[in-house]
Amino acid sequence: MKENIILRHKVVKCLRDFLDARGFVEIETPILIKSTPEGARDFLVPSRLQPGKFYALPQSPQQLKQLLMVAGFEKYYQVARCFRDEDLRADRQLEFTQLDIEMSFVEEDDILHLMEDMFVSLVETVKPSMKLPKPFPRLSYDDVMERYGTDKPDIRFGLELSDLTEIVAGSEFGVFRSAINGGGKVRGFRAPGCGTYTRRQLDELIDLSKSFGAKGLVALALVKGSGGVAVDKASSAAARFLTSEEINKMADRLGAEAGDLLLIVSDKTGVVNKVLDQLRREMGRRLGLVDRNVLAVAFIVDFPLFEWNEEEKRWQASHHPFTAPRDEDLPMLETSPARIRAKCYDIICNGYELSSGSIRIHNRDIQEKVFTLLGYDRERVQRLFGHMLEAFEYGAPPHGGVAPGIDRVVMLLAGEESIREVIAFPKNQAGGDLTFDAPSEVSDEQLLELHLARREDP
Ligand code: ASP
Repeated sequence: MKENIILRHKVVKCLRDFLDARGFVEIETPILIKSTPEGARDFLVPSRLQPGKFYALPQSPQQLKQLLMVAGFEKYYQVARCFRDEDLRADRQLEFTQLDIEMSFVEEDDILHLMEDMFVSLVETVKPSMKLPKPFPRLSYDDVMERYGTDKPDIRFGLELSDLTEIVAGSEFGVFRSAINGGGKVRGFRAPGCGTYTRRQLDELIDLSKSFGAKGLVALALVKGSGGVAVDKASSAAARFLTSEEINKMADRLGAEAGDLLLIVSDKTGVVNKVLDQLRREMGRRLGLVDRNVLAVAFIVDFPLFEWNEEEKRWQASHHPFTAPRDEDLPMLETSPARIRAKCYDIICNGYELSSGSIRIHNRDIQEKVFTLLGYDRERVQRLFGHMLEAFEYGAPPHGGVAPGIDRVVMLLAGEESIREVIAFPKNQAGGDLTFDAPSEVSDEQLLELHLARREDP
């Protein structure tokens, strides 16, 4: 633990030195601020001096760094604490630290080059023994969703996914048929040499699939058959419903041969992708394909600007509402928002998202149109974002930025699997600090001062 904390110190120092040498200025921004929408829930702090009002802790210094660009600082950075009241996971805490960066007069390329140089310099300085393949590949969002089912794939190994929907479109097999009739997909990949998996091993994979939302998993162990491959009947009940032509075509599409195991999921596209992503990661581990000494960094580009939120029946920003649309896609703001691509990029490494970032909107008109599309009315835009829109009228420079998560970077460099291993006084899974026993009760006097009253949870 001590070594990890010292590594963290070295990482932060190296990042500061790198940016300082390139003319960046570190600027501290306030922690007591107003809600900054980045898609998560805010932490609120009641005001004593202004009864009934609240500060929000920043989900990131997003708006502040953009205002600094308008103010004429052309290169900003900050080792910034961010707060998001979300469910915790191994790579997520309620508070975390970003290397927050913003620059004026830049395009996507400038930022991606800066990031590549920064990560190369970081690894050379603090962990020269680790391999960092470069140049970092640039992969489009559509491409990685197709090949890996996720926008943060572990690209240290293959096991790529293929679509089988067309091949089994006319299949007798009810499970495939009902997924396809419901507008879903049938997709899968090949696990080389795993055709000998025992019932127990197969059950483990089925349980894993179910825990990520699949109704089941079709696992077909291939053996040599007449005219190609056949399914080892003992391995799968599904085999009875599939013709040998279908099996051969699927094996062909997946590049499989006798001795392999085909792992196939059919459902709504979102479920299929989520489950296959997890299965692929699991098989990567089981097959020993994951080299812990390699940092496989890539840029994911060409994200859609908006996503449709089916539950709430509204558009939401895929990244955040300040992200600029691609120039050529601008006219579609009024006609087909789903097709607009964003000037946005993620940095991924070994299956984790290390960072997102984007070129920002710097024009009042476009920013207002985006807010309207996201369902904010004029009054709310003025109340929440009036300061941003006003700032843009002073002649905002084109600007953009990025914000790698320091906890995750240190975790990967330390070879750990949870960010809690690289944080001093980390919170547990329930968001609690065990040293201080926080969160904890406070006295009635403190509540009174803050103009708050207790009430029973309804
Ligand atoms: N504020 C963004 C985030 O926290 C990063 C950025 O766009 O610079 O994800």
